[in-house]
Amino acid sequence: MAVLEPPEVDVAIAGGGPVGCALALALSGSAVSVARIAGEADFADRPIALSYGSRMILERLGAWNSVRSNPIETIHVSQQGFGRTVMRCVDYGLPALGYVTAYSELVAQLAGRTPVSAGSLRDWKSADSEVVLRLSRGEKEAGVRARLLVLADGAHSRMTRHVRDYRQQAIVAEVTAEHPRGGVAWERFTAEGPLALLPFGDRYALVWSVRPASAALLLGLSDSDFLARLREIFGGRLGNFGSVGPRSTFPLSLRHGAIAPAPRVLAIGNAAQTLHPVAGQGLNLGLRDAWELAQMLLDVAKEEIGAPRFLARYARSRSFDRYGGIGFTDFLVRIFSNSLAPLALARGAGLAALDALPPARRFLAHRMIFGFPKRSCLGIELRSRSKKFP
Ligand SMILES: Cc1cc2nc3c(=O)[nH]c(=O)nc-3n(C[C@H](O)[C@H](O)[C@H](O)COP(=O)(O)OP(=O)(O)OC[C@H]3O[C@@H](n4cnc5c(N)ncnc54)[C@H](O)[C@@H]3O)c2cc1C
Repeated sequence: MAVLEPPEVDVAIAGGGPVGCALALALSGSAVSVARIAGEADFADRPIALSYGSRMILERLGAWNSVRSNPIETIHVSQQGFGRTVMRCVDYGLPALGYVTAYSELVAQLAGRTPVSAGSLRDWKSADSEVVLRLSRGEKEAGVRARLLVLADGAHSRMTRHVRDYRQQAIVAEVTAEHPRGGVAWERFTAEGPLALLPFGDRYALVWSVRPASAALLLGLSDSDFLARLREIFGGRLGNFGSVGPRSTFPLSLRHGAIAPAPRVLAIGNAAQTLHPVAGQGLNLGLRDAWELAQMLLDVAKEEIGAPRFLARYARSRSFDRYGGIGFTDFLVRIFSNSLAPLALARGAGLAALDALPPARRFLAHRMIFGFPKRSCLGIELRSRSKKFP
């Protein structure tokens, strides 16, 4: 029987999520040959807040106009008790600080534009000049040879060196409110974890982080009791909450430093770092991983793709942004998720100071929108109100 030689490509991308698809799309039509390995879509849908920086990446990929989204013009940040600050897009000359869409919507738009090699990555062997992948295709097996394997297969595929279990679960649901405020996103810190309400059509997407025991209780409540509890915690800024859709939960942890044999293999997106959803940073960081990697792949000679020097350069170029995002979200969760009185006072004073100091607010807005790269991979800086954004 004839043995088929596995196809050879420059880059094999394992993962059918938004980050793997974005990388494949950024390379499509170029001289870099790609195999994107993805199985049947299998995920829990959730709302996703994309930063204005992510919109710029999706625009450059030609995918933005088809993604249905809701603009976030203002972000209102508060904690239970005293202290709040407000960020507005007009202060930075932007049309919006970010946008809310559904994970499924984004994946459908990106995946539909890139060819897929059906299957799921089982394992790989890396050598000096190539990496050989073994894929499962139903009952069958297949192979691919590549200069570089990019793991974009999400959080749960392999062990990571650094794990922090936040002992929080995110309850995700859509709710309606009596007095909705179009274009305003709300982030409220509570002793159990942050609560976000994101504008989503005529509803709000709720991402409510609580301790596991409270999550079980909240899931068991009737709709009206759930909404009454939400109002108690969030306050009356939107009036009463009217209805709630199906509720789902996600366990929350910080994971980074994937344990994966290194030669000719690197990880991006959640496979490289999984963050707490506070301040909506995870996917935005993953899209910057994909964008920057694509630029580097498009810039080097083929023989360099996947070589140790290439991997080291990529790791260096992403480390500021990666550890900035990890540190920022971890700091927020750990400092805000408790009820210690002195800390609550300090946090309140911090929020009030942020509100009184526009430059400090702009610094924070810049990090939330464009991340923490050493040099902006999008080649732009956040301007002050007096200057027009390009
Ligand atoms: C409740 C919640 C709210 C969130 N809100 C936000 C937000 O507002 N803003 C934000 O920026 N981020 C947010 N995030 C984080 C965001 O969802 C992730 O950062 C993002 O989905 C990462 O994309 P990814 O493509 O790297 O991984 P994933 O989305 O996990 O996709 C990985 C893909 O790889 C596939 N796969 C797995 N194993 C294999 C294999 N062996 N072979 C082939 N394919 C495989 C999976 O099926 C999946 O399709 C939130 C997360 C949660 C839990």
